[in-house]
Amino acid sequence: MVIVGAGFAGLRAVKRLSDADAEVLLIDRYNYHTFIPMLYQVATGFIEPELIAYPIRKALRNIFNADFLMAEVEQINPDNKTITADGRTMTYDYLVLSSGSQANFLGVSGAPQFTFPLRTLDNAIVLRNHILSCFEQAVKNLENSSLQEQLLTFVIVGGGPTGVEMAGALQELIYDCLVKDYPQLDLERAKVILLQSGSDLLASYPKHLQKYTVRTLRDRGVKVHFNNRVKETSSTEVVLEDETRITTATIIWTAGVEASLPKPQAEVSTASKNKVEVQDTLQLPKYPHVYAVGDVAYVEQDGKPLVGIAPEALQQGGMVAENLQRQLKGKSPKAFNYFNKGRAAIIARNAGVILLLGKIPLGGFLGWLMWLGIHLYYLPGLSNRFKVLGAWLKDYLRRDRSVRQVYTMISADSRTQLK
Ligand SMILES: Cc1cc2nc3c(=O)[nH]c(=O)nc-3n(C[C@H](O)[C@H](O)[C@H](O)COP(=O)(O)OP(=O)(O)OC[C@H]3O[C@@H](n4cnc5c(N)ncnc54)[C@H](O)[C@@H]3O)c2cc1C
Repeated sequence: MVIVGAGFAGLRAVKRLSDADAEVLLIDRYNYHTFIPMLYQVATGFIEPELIAYPIRKALRNIFNADFLMAEVEQINPDNKTITADGRTMTYDYLVLSSGSQANFLGVSGAPQFTFPLRTLDNAIVLRNHILSCFEQAVKNLENSSLQEQLLTFVIVGGGPTGVEMAGALQELIYDCLVKDYPQLDLERAKVILLQSGSDLLASYPKHLQKYTVRTLRDRGVKVHFNNRVKETSSTEVVLEDETRITTATIIWTAGVEASLPKPQAEVSTASKNKVEVQDTLQLPKYPHVYAVGDVAYVEQDGKPLVGIAPEALQQGGMVAENLQRQLKGKSPKAFNYFNKGRAAIIARNAGVILLLGKIPLGGFLGWLMWLGIHLYYLPGLSNRFKVLGAWLKDYLRRDRSVRQVYTMISADSRTQLK
């Protein structure tokens, strides 16, 4: 069996297959599992990157029927049951696609080159480095007021959970922490701008939680703009559809997402966001030996598509393991049924929103506390949990973030070259 992607779904599947009478090969382009929901905390200096990167080989240490290969899967060929990874072609009996999702720049001119996506740990580290570099550059250019404005304006595109979390955390980084590090800068001029094309933030939450989110961000100083799409981006500005121009050196892209699917060498039907269509058993319609799970799969529950969050991926990873075991024993696979535990987003200190069990809305301090508790519980590695807790306490009690180093070896590309 081959499993592509050691994210939430893939890793859960391998663990649940530990007693299967089969050899399992897990492939990922990184040799660590990324706890994606806390990427924004790396990007805003809350925590060290290592705390949300769990070594895959360590996770597999006691799973004796599983092996790991660090490689990029380029192609899958369900007709002759092969995949190609790093140029090598391998055969499989069963294949699980759990390769997650990636940024979709929605055809916006300049967005792939000049905006910062937040999908991988590398993205988060590059973004943190860039944000901190903006402040260092601003200190060197105190007399150049237009450059100061550009360097100290941070634009976030997309008002979903990632955009909201990033906006709140960045605002706090600047006004609680960097304000003490850069006394020579007039940080009253710094701006965090959140751009949303629609009329609400957190579109899938109830109205009163959406309103609470906007109010909280605005009270903390984030500038929230609605009903205007980004038309174009460059290294120095964002242009909106109504021709508004915002001068900035930092555009953070959280607006679009699509499945991250290795190139299929056969006809694999896809739905919206390039997600692979699957049957209710999570198998591909034409290929009963191929499953797709997590963000890469288009799965409906009660006639509505699942939204693409970690609990869905985890439950599908468990289901695929069960179905594979059933297939090995000659039984037919079972239909997947999602148990909605709920979803959560953090807005800023003491403020979060939760939709418990998919229907009980909670906001404010309780929502915030529950977000912290849930994420700490699911974070892989006991020592990581303690270290993250320590970093959170430091931020909460002393208004100080753990990480503020600018690492010069992080390669500069078109986005990170500050003018
Ligand atoms: C910034 C951000 C914040 C989020 N916050 C939350 C949250 O608070 N709560 C929540 O429930 N959900 C959150 N989500 C959504 C959640 O992270 C995803 O739904 C979940 O990660 C999906 O799990 P997965 O296993 O399908 O994919 P992933 O966890 O993304 O794993 C996919 C794996 O496949 C690997 N891979 C991809 N392509 C290839 C290839 N071609 N070859 C080899 N390896 C490959 C990747 O390296 C990765 O390790 C967030 C997402 C983002 C981007």
